[in-house]
Amino acid sequence: MMGSKKEFHSALFYEFCLEDHVPADHFLRSVDRFVDLNDIRKYLVPFYSDIGRPSIDPELLIRMLLVGYIMGIRSERRLCEEVHLNLAYRWFCRLDLGDAVPDHSTFSKNRHGRFRESDLFRQLFESVVTRCIEEGLVSGQRFAVDASLIEADTNRQNSTSKEEWKPEVINPAEALRAVREYLATLDDAAFGAATTVQPKFTSHSDPASQWTAARKGPAYFAYSANYMIDTDNAVILDVEATRSVRQAEVGAARTMIDRIADKFNLHPERLIADTAYGSAPMLDWLAQQRGIAPHIPVIDKSGRKDGTFERADFIYDADDDSYTCPGGKKLRQFRRAYKTPRSGADKDNTMRYRAKKTDCDTCGLKSVCTPREPQRKVTRSIYEPSRDIARNITKTIDYAISCKLRKKVEMSFAHLKRILKLDRLRLRGPCGAKDFFNGIGSMLSLDMYIQCKQFFALTYFMKFHGSSFLI
Ligand code: SF4
Repeated sequence: MMGSKKEFHSALFYEFCLEDHVPADHFLRSVDRFVDLNDIRKYLVPFYSDIGRPSIDPELLIRMLLVGYIMGIRSERRLCEEVHLNLAYRWFCRLDLGDAVPDHSTFSKNRHGRFRESDLFRQLFESVVTRCIEEGLVSGQRFAVDASLIEADTNRQNSTSKEEWKPEVINPAEALRAVREYLATLDDAAFGAATTVQPKFTSHSDPASQWTAARKGPAYFAYSANYMIDTDNAVILDVEATRSVRQAEVGAARTMIDRIADKFNLHPERLIADTAYGSAPMLDWLAQQRGIAPHIPVIDKSGRKDGTFERADFIYDADDDSYTCPGGKKLRQFRRAYKTPRSGADKDNTMRYRAKKTDCDTCGLKSVCTPREPQRKVTRSIYEPSRDIARNITKTIDYAISCKLRKKVEMSFAHLKRILKLDRLRLRGPCGAKDFFNGIGSMLSLDMYIQCKQFFALTYFMKFHGSSFLI
């Protein structure tokens, strides 16, 4: 029998409990258990006025941003609509049925305003790391570091060649926010002061980004995302945004090691990295100044391709401070005593040891030692003892294990680019890159946390939803 037509009559009173309508196994319940935003209000107090109309709860904004990220809602307008309509989203954001959802413009206002001034995303990232440490997911014994290029939100057409780029004529008062940030970071070791080499092109809309062809393909503008992880569970312990040049990336590794020591009191016994971090000063800094074993391949350009003797064919005698050549002769820096002792190191921190011309002139090995020069010369870095430490480590079983552990940091970048499709920035300027990478670091660490506790991969859920970042 057909039922009677249902007429809609709105009830005068409702008895409705949001908690009862969110399924016990809903994904957001799993995330909610691991998200701790209690400290946000305390942290943001100095950035709000003491008088005036009460603001929207900052925790609500962060929870909404998390929903947008996890559920793949890119548009801030759509996010507000979804939170308005979806009961589970309301529950996660602590909004009751009758509570108003903030306007979409509130997000951009806060992101570029007090959230950035207060470095809130950094604070969020550190709170996730702290929780991972408290739960025993981080031993702090073995760290791995790497950098990856993330394409900047700009293109080649909107750029100027290095001959025509004149930063001194830019008026900061009239410049875009990203350009003002570029001017402010010209002396920053992670950006402008990383190298004196001018890039071939500079972008107008995001001049701090680096024109690079490091991927061996067509060049493009990019920033480098630098991550330092604890290799136990691949929890990201620190993040740094830099220009995409090696000097800046190596500097970022130093910054992160010191910051992790200050913030979390973690002092690793080894640092695992690829050849890009194997410069002599970096190895010396790790081994001598920080007492960290460098599990890093040494950058060594002493090899020769023409078949003549390499530096490795000369034996160094530390007591005598001399090299012995394959012909049994001594190579020295000085052959007479100076009144004032000399260090022997040149401006490039390299010492030069020379054979006697008379020895080489009469040597039968000259054609395979120094066929074009009258006497043989061998160079030695002042950091050679540290380079030797790193070379000896590469012969151990521990190093073979470290090579496998290094894959974990590369896996984080693979998650970032292949699964989350976050291979292009959506924010401009050094601050935009910083916020973006801090946000990514928080989510990837949270992901590892949830995986370890619930055997559930947040990133795979996000892939299913095609999620992306709003922050
Ligand atoms: S050429 Fe000079 S440095 Fe080379 S093996 Fe002969 S003596 Fe030694």
